[in-house]
Amino acid sequence: MASNLQANKPHAVCVPLPSQGHLNPMLNLAKLLHHKGFHITYVNTHFNHNRFLRSRGPDAVASLPDFRFEEIPDGLPPSDADATQFIPSLCDSTRRTCLVPFRQLLRKLNDESSSHSSNVPPVSCIVSDSAMFFTGKAADEIGIPNVYLWTASACSFLGYLYCPQLIHNGLTPLKDESYLRNGYLDTIIDWIPGLKGIRLKDLPSFIRTTDPNDIMMDFILEVNTAMHKASSIILNTFEELDHQVLEALSSILPPIYPIGPLHLLVSQINDHSLDSISANLWKEELECLQWLNTKKPRSVVYVNFGSITIMSPQQLQEFAWGLANSEKPLVWVIRPDLVKGDSAVFSYELLTKIKKVGIMISWCPQEKVLSHPSIGGFLTHCGWNSMIESLSAGVPVVCWPFFADQQTNCWSSCNEWGIGMEIDSNVRRDEVENLVKEILEGEKGTKMREKAMEWKRKAENAIGPGGSSLLNFEKMNLEYQLLTY
Ligand code: UDP
Repeated sequence: MASNLQANKPHAVCVPLPSQGHLNPMLNLAKLLHHKGFHITYVNTHFNHNRFLRSRGPDAVASLPDFRFEEIPDGLPPSDADATQFIPSLCDSTRRTCLVPFRQLLRKLNDESSSHSSNVPPVSCIVSDSAMFFTGKAADEIGIPNVYLWTASACSFLGYLYCPQLIHNGLTPLKDESYLRNGYLDTIIDWIPGLKGIRLKDLPSFIRTTDPNDIMMDFILEVNTAMHKASSIILNTFEELDHQVLEALSSILPPIYPIGPLHLLVSQINDHSLDSISANLWKEELECLQWLNTKKPRSVVYVNFGSITIMSPQQLQEFAWGLANSEKPLVWVIRPDLVKGDSAVFSYELLTKIKKVGIMISWCPQEKVLSHPSIGGFLTHCGWNSMIESLSAGVPVVCWPFFADQQTNCWSSCNEWGIGMEIDSNVRRDEVENLVKEILEGEKGTKMREKAMEWKRKAENAIGPGGSSLLNFEKMNLEYQLLTY
């Protein structure tokens, strides 16, 4: 048997979907549980483990005695690095291949814990990304609780859960491609509680398929089944932001715990032993922070399309000309793989214009950028982490949703939370220019900033003493500790 105090801790095995927007919230949750006395095993894929090593060196995956990293394969061909950035491939591969190596990992951890000299406690619960639901089977087999972290938005969660009814009512799959353009997607769906007045086009993008055997739709239906069987589900939102949606979710799911914004909750625990652990797949370029220091308050537009969005060279040109023509100070993050085919190429004239007002980098410390006083607006793809980080920083958004939950997040930002304006998916430079000017200086932009500041205060209250997220976290933690002993 393991020999000391360490070995008597509860042990959570945290399993994120190996994609940036999922790695970050899971790491925050793992740090919070560690702070509450859990021994943590954080499970990376081999591919990401090597990527962390390449981009940030050995410290990126250096284990502490009670916060350890392990690896399993993602099942994708090693030669196909692009597939790891393509969510349907990743989801399909992990659901088909990860259970076997994950079982072996659990066995290894439990074998280690029974060795006399070990500091590893027996695994007492699994905390898994909802998209890694194969973990549910492994948890059942060894009789431990499986708790899911839903890393996307709560509003999209409702959309996903209602997919069976959308299928039953004949609303998806679409009859043919013409339904993408003939106004059909403007159909209002008035029967999903918590999402009153939403249009088909605002629901998660996977409903836009014409294929009755669509991989993602099949995947969503499997996730839904797993969610109904969960021990409990953690959400990265707070009650004040998503009140009606959370009520609707609570009425159909096992216990849910909204404990967000996770990045704010974790920032107040002051556990410096974990400071060096981050989940960045790209190396941060920090010079933008110094550059921001030289700008006036709320004068800069921050542009970032997250870790997965891909756009055409034409779309990039429209954004670039719109941003350059606005002549507003600009931090623009352009990932090396943001543009389909060729990398970003700008004419000399365009580049000169952009460089006159802004800087371009390939990855930044987003939370720090958003909370910098010089930032006045965020042109975003509406990934859930970006949205909650933006509203927690009091920054209004210009939305250009790409896929998955981003359409629903855009709808909530513009219609429910009052912090967003949408750019047409067929992006045009004059619209970009106008919306950037509006968000920084217009009347609508000013109102949205006031609203965003309100959400910032509410988010801070939620994670502060007596706040809803902190109370939910304490309650959840107590239940885990009871469950795991
Ligand atoms: N992020 C970052 N630096 C960047 C771009 C993104 O740190 O230059 C972080 C961002 O703060 C967020 C995550 O990466 O936590 C992206 O997640 P999100 O849900 O916004 O979008 P996704 O990448 O999943 O589409």
